[in-house]
Amino acid sequence: MRAAVFKGLNQKLCVEAIPVPIPKPGEVIIKVGRCGICGSDLHMTEDPAFNVPSGMVLGHEFAGEVVELGKEVESLKVGDRVAVVPMKGCGHCPSCLSGEPGSCAEVELIGGGYGEYAVAAARQAVPLPQSAGISDGALVEPLAVALHGVMRSDLQPGDKVVVLGAGPIGLATAFWARRIGARQVVITDLNVFQQDRAMKLGATDFVTGDEDHVVQADRLMGGKADIVFECVGVPGMIAQAIEHVRSKGKVLIQGLCTRPDSFVPFRAINKECTLQFSNFFKTQEFETSLDILSMGAVEPRALITDTIGLNELPDAFEALRHRTTQCKIQIAP
Ligand SMILES: [Zn+2]
Ligand SMILES: [Zn+2]
Repeated sequence: MRAAVFKGLNQKLCVEAIPVPIPKPGEVIIKVGRCGICGSDLHMTEDPAFNVPSGMVLGHEFAGEVVELGKEVESLKVGDRVAVVPMKGCGHCPSCLSGEPGSCAEVELIGGGYGEYAVAAARQAVPLPQSAGISDGALVEPLAVALHGVMRSDLQPGDKVVVLGAGPIGLATAFWARRIGARQVVITDLNVFQQDRAMKLGATDFVTGDEDHVVQADRLMGGKADIVFECVGVPGMIAQAIEHVRSKGKVLIQGLCTRPDSFVPFRAINKECTLQFSNFFKTQEFETSLDILSMGAVEPRALITDTIGLNELPDAFEALRHRTTQCKIQIAP
């Protein structure tokens, strides 16, 4: 089969022929229908902190069709269309049993979506309802990441929200925040590229340009935010988030920053604000994200700007290292 293979840090992905994976007991082979390119995949190819082995096939936002069953698989059959929860836990510890494989001591983030076929444990595969398309299936993972952040923030109907960063996770966060009842959702970004898309996803205002973003957001909301979502992940953003939040408000940090970041504690102490971090999602949040799409919520589909083939993936992947007008790119291997 063909796959875009990781060769080493800061090297371009390489499309080559590799063997189709063989399922172990409890696993299934999935013919990948769509796979989203995720910002964390970009990080993984740049940063030694992630320890990605050469030869790995990345791509964890995928959906497809089950084409082969390993032994002992009873929950699925060949031909089932599924979306995949990419965190593979042990399957039997309290975290795994309560739907939080991301907190399992043995958790591993599986890839494989940048190839024609991928392997996953049957328990990671969630069947797609008839009404969900395959591209919807590949959108479930980033939606679930955003939903988890919103759940961790304890957002209440009527809250005023600022989202830093109009990437896919920031936009999906705006979608959920609005859906759960936020009164105002202001997205800030250095570029204007995603303004229209942000409004489609549920933002009420979009802040960009040279004037201080905190000043602009305060003016739009008539005060500070109850909750600030940090969805950029570069040094300086936590300090920025603290400036946006009200006294006793909450800063929810999702941006995947792998470098040291500093802020002045006095600024946060003055406000007695809470800093809360968020990682992965619960299986239940994945299922809810799929439900929302299959019950007819069309807004998240606006996240998808491009669908490309495997041959185009290495170039598209490199281009995403710099901000572009694109949002979520999906691959159809
Ligand atoms: Zn992702
Ligand atoms: Zn476990």
